[in-house]
Amino acid sequence: MADHIKKARPHVNQNEDLIFERSSAGKCAYQLPPLDVPPADTGALGGFTRDEIPGFPEVSEMEIVRHFTRLSTWNYGVDTGAYLLGSCTMKYNPKINELVARLKGIANVHPYQPQEASQGCLKVLKLLSESLLEITGMDAITLQPAAGAHGEMTALLMVHAYLASQGNPRHKVLIPDSAHGTNAASAAMAGYKTLNLPSNSEGMVDLATLERLMDDDVAALMLTNPNTLGIFEERIAEIARIVHARGGLVYMDGANMNALVGVSRPGDFGVDVLHLNLHKTFSTPHGGGGPGAGPVAVRKQLEPFLPIPTLIEKPDGSLALDYDRPASIGRVRAFYGNFGVLVRALAYILANGAEGLRESTEEAVLNSVYVRKNLEDSYELPYKRPALHECVFSDKRQAQHGVHTGDIAKRLIDYGFHPYTVSFPLIVPGALMIEPTESESKQELDLLIDALRSIAREAEQEPETVLHAPHTTRIARVDEVQAARRPILRWKPEPRT
Ligand SMILES: *Cc1c(COP(=O)(O)O)cnc(C)c1O
Repeated sequence: MADHIKKARPHVNQNEDLIFERSSAGKCAYQLPPLDVPPADTGALGGFTRDEIPGFPEVSEMEIVRHFTRLSTWNYGVDTGAYLLGSCTMKYNPKINELVARLKGIANVHPYQPQEASQGCLKVLKLLSESLLEITGMDAITLQPAAGAHGEMTALLMVHAYLASQGNPRHKVLIPDSAHGTNAASAAMAGYKTLNLPSNSEGMVDLATLERLMDDDVAALMLTNPNTLGIFEERIAEIARIVHARGGLVYMDGANMNALVGVSRPGDFGVDVLHLNLHKTFSTPHGGGGPGAGPVAVRKQLEPFLPIPTLIEKPDGSLALDYDRPASIGRVRAFYGNFGVLVRALAYILANGAEGLRESTEEAVLNSVYVRKNLEDSYELPYKRPALHECVFSDKRQAQHGVHTGDIAKRLIDYGFHPYTVSFPLIVPGALMIEPTESESKQELDLLIDALRSIAREAEQEPETVLHAPHTTRIARVDEVQAARRPILRWKPEPRT
């Protein structure tokens, strides 16, 4: 293809430099009817009219439409392909959720509307609360936290308030070495000192170490179950007994509930408090940093400490928000949480029903086991115990050829897949953490397996191909630190010369 055509049609070959600026003076993307009123006296408006933006592009309607349509194709999302990020549960976001969230009575409701005129919305909150309590087996819940990490902190503030009410808030929180980084950060923000709990050779909590570290100054154990290796902590009942015997509480990081919903309930295996990630397990969108929702479910003894407001049913059967709760830790979020996200999660739960939710869990586990079985010849599996909804390999074999997990992830982009989670959990050096979720079909998983096997062959036979990947994207390897620290998120006019 001739150079000029490639340049003019950048989407044909993604590797070509593109002409981003398409402005030429005098072009206009809209047509207005002739003015039929006197022109405004801008002087009389006291300088409140906007000046022309210097250097603002002048393009035709078609050019602007093509510009934004093209930009949308440079992105990757769960609507374009499989999203393997382990521990993130990047499942499909059903369109029915969006339809429900756009219903007029839901989309147009105002947070200051009187409670009598918001009964429908309060009913949404009630139904979701009841569903989540049934799923988790807990006694009470707040829907307010805006993310998993926010839920963790909210929960630990409740733990602190509860233990303080018992006479001693304690100072330490125990966190296994396989935990998500947010666990330690949340504990620290809630004022606790964190203690590292090393896993045993099978990738689970080591009971002897737990016995040794668990003393009267430990407020809680923060456990992820199944843990971030995808392994179910089989001795959870014993773990809970050890923690409870010393007066501590068991906190469960529920980010991995996609392995449990409809099959096993944290409230039945000794958990006192847990957070859920509605943007993971319950299918609400989960990109670009949110909005999310991290409800926290608790056992009876923690209920008085839930953030305000809580939802109550009045004697006449109407619903209301209760602010009169003297033991509450207070407010953690404006209004009532991310309502639009809560609506979507409820739509997902109701659309699936109890049977459907259980089936999703079973298929999520089946998909992960299928991927694991088909890749264990090509990649090192550091922990051999059966795992549930996600599997964790290491780059040990590929590293002999100088190829590491980050390189394999980049090469996977060339094969049309979003990378898996790289280098987490930290207890697996060079980790490849894959969570296919129930959303993906067998055909899609077979393509993924072929791609990862092919990359393993390349790592051996032509490592350079992997080391310089991706080859098919507009930008190859960005400086990830700068991209996070100094992101360029908006267009700015080029200085005029
Ligand atoms: C995602 C995740 C979190 C944090 O949740 P956010 O909603 O991202 O704040 C905590 N723990 C685990 C195990 C997770 O996977």
